[in-house]
Amino acid sequence: MPELASFIPAIVEIVKNARDHGRSIGFVPTMGALHAGHLKLMQEARRENNFVVVSIFVNPLQFDRKDDLDRYPRTLAADMAVCSTVPVDLVFTPSAAELYPREQRAFVDVPGLTNHLCGAFRPGHFRGVATVVAKLFNIVRPDRAYFGEKDAQQLAVIRRMVEDLNMPVAVVGIPTVREPDGLALSSRNKHLTAEQRQLATLLPQMINEARSRLDEGERSASTIREALEPMFRTHADVRLEYFEIVEPSTLAPVERIDGPVLIAGAIWVGSTRLIDNMRWPGGQERN
Ligand code: AMP
Repeated sequence: MPELASFIPAIVEIVKNARDHGRSIGFVPTMGALHAGHLKLMQEARRENNFVVVSIFVNPLQFDRKDDLDRYPRTLAADMAVCSTVPVDLVFTPSAAELYPREQRAFVDVPGLTNHLCGAFRPGHFRGVATVVAKLFNIVRPDRAYFGEKDAQQLAVIRRMVEDLNMPVAVVGIPTVREPDGLALSSRNKHLTAEQRQLATLLPQMINEARSRLDEGERSASTIREALEPMFRTHADVRLEYFEIVEPSTLAPVERIDGPVLIAGAIWVGSTRLIDNMRWPGGQERN
């Protein structure tokens, strides 16, 4: 079993000891309810570093809806079992009081990158993400940190934060792990009923259909959007929140597609919100 610690001084001490022994530190921040997507990040961290730290923290600062925070799955025993298969060296499970002992007054904002996609629908979300990741980086001080391309906007925000603030950490993006039918693995998939689980595949289907249209030579984002939106009018339990084609690093919307783009969408299935994205042309970034 990996070592488990909930207090910041213990984490600082254990990681310092590893670093003093010449080990490189790989870090995977998560909110728990670990699945094969998280596992891929941990395995990559294991492959590239001598000491791997995973954090499990459901960060209240990044939740724009209280019901989403309240019902977010918390499965620590199962998560520890996943971590021990990698194996991970250290699991950090702080309480909210440990990370936010008093009102947080200092924040990291990355405006511009957060105006579109999820940022337009989740006020304060990326400020909460960037702020907690900055705090976790300062506590763990990793050499490399691993994030999923599934949350492409999050990855772009973290990369920009690290560059603009000269944070001494290498950010590694990991391709999205999917179910056999194309649905991206997500902790929120646990909320879906069997019927909703079926409907959820509309999201990767829509993005794949957009890719096919680009392959066939269509170059107008609005034409593609108008062709695909009706996919979501067939069932009362599913609703398209957004569908956008954006430039992969600035995330600015692209109307005329003449270079690599990110095709991204968010849907609601019942009361569960799901996101996904794919690059076009294919081929995932890895650095
Ligand atoms: P979360 O616990 O949802 O905050 O996710 C923790 C990390 O795992 C984030 O960097 C996510 O982008 C990444 N992640 C979540 N789902 C997947 C997936 N299906 N494939 C790859 N990475 C993922």
